[in-house]
Amino acid sequence: MYKVLVADDARVMRFATIRILKKLGLEPVEAEDGLQALEIFDREKPDLVLIDVQMPGLDGLEVVRRIRQLSSEHWVPVIFLTSMEDEADYTRGIEAGGDDYLTKPVSPVVLEAKIRALRRLDDMRRELMAVTLELREANERLGRLSQQDGLTGLANRRRFDLDLMREVGRARRERRPISVVVADVDYFKSFNDTYGHPAGDECLRRVASALRAVCRRPGDLAARYGGEEFALILPDTTEESALARAVEAMRAVAALEVEHRGSKVARYVTMSFGAAGCIPDAGTVADMLVDRADRALYAAKRSGRNLAMAFSELSPPEAARPEAVAPDRPPAVDLDLDEPSAPGTLLH
Ligand code: GH3
Ligand code: MG
Ligand code: MG
Repeated sequence: MYKVLVADDARVMRFATIRILKKLGLEPVEAEDGLQALEIFDREKPDLVLIDVQMPGLDGLEVVRRIRQLSSEHWVPVIFLTSMEDEADYTRGIEAGGDDYLTKPVSPVVLEAKIRALRRLDDMRRELMAVTLELREANERLGRLSQQDGLTGLANRRRFDLDLMREVGRARRERRPISVVVADVDYFKSFNDTYGHPAGDECLRRVASALRAVCRRPGDLAARYGGEEFALILPDTTEESALARAVEAMRAVAALEVEHRGSKVARYVTMSFGAAGCIPDAGTVADMLVDRADRALYAAKRSGRNLAMAFSELSPPEAARPEAVAPDRPPAVDLDLDEPSAPGTLLH
């Protein structure tokens, strides 16, 4: 039922308007002064307000100003009732927040037309609000998706980079430690070769869930860094503790017991880990932590895989970039980490 508040101190006028509304099949509620109008507006929540500009005490303009303040979310159309002689009332009415005006005595035909127009506006406004809400939700969903890895549901590289930058900044300001752990599946190319790419995907999902499980604290983040590489951000964690968490993650991955016949280190899928941490100073950038953790990972790979190593454990040449390894050292077996191996060489 369409409820209409009629506020007018002139009893005869009020009754006349109410009679028209009833004839139109609408439900009138009446108020004889401004205060009562506010009270009834609040209680009855009308769909439309017809209000006289001039009333003793709280006049119509003030009532509408207050209505607009009270219900800024929920718009209710307001039509001012004015006498023919007072044109200035039209302007003041619209300024106070009114939507239209009618001269008294109210003409049934004009009132009906105006109500119809205002209802149409109200319907459009509701539709617009619904669409806006949907759009806002879709945007939020999109925002979340753009930071998520599609395969594993972990944070993606973009989110990792943003979070790490923020956390390094925070650790610097608070003079707290922060650590990064990077992790890489051992002999994963061979896993794909043996069991197929879809099985490889499933393996990555399971590994991801094991890594997610070791990120227990609210600020911890597990991310898919790319391919079969993952990375953890561990705020407020020293490198030593980060190494312990890496060992824990390594055990969690092994405990999945995902069969891997192509691995040279175990019967199951394993991962290698590198950890690096520091209390950042003015010169510390996020990339540096990742780079150090990467070097520790590289050393873990070279030392046999299924291992976790910390950057501080590395000997000076190892701590340098892999490319900078002294030329007289024999090249490590897997310096060609990313080069495709000959077909079947990694298989038994
Ligand atoms: P290492 O023990 O030295 O890490 O050797 P690896 O074989 O794991 O490393 P390599 O970099 O040679 O191979 C990585 C493989 O990971 C190659 C690539 O096809 C596979 N890979 C990367 N992303 C995905 C993915 O999303 N799904 C699947 N199934 N495989 C992927
Ligand atoms: Mg690998
Ligand atoms: Mg790799």
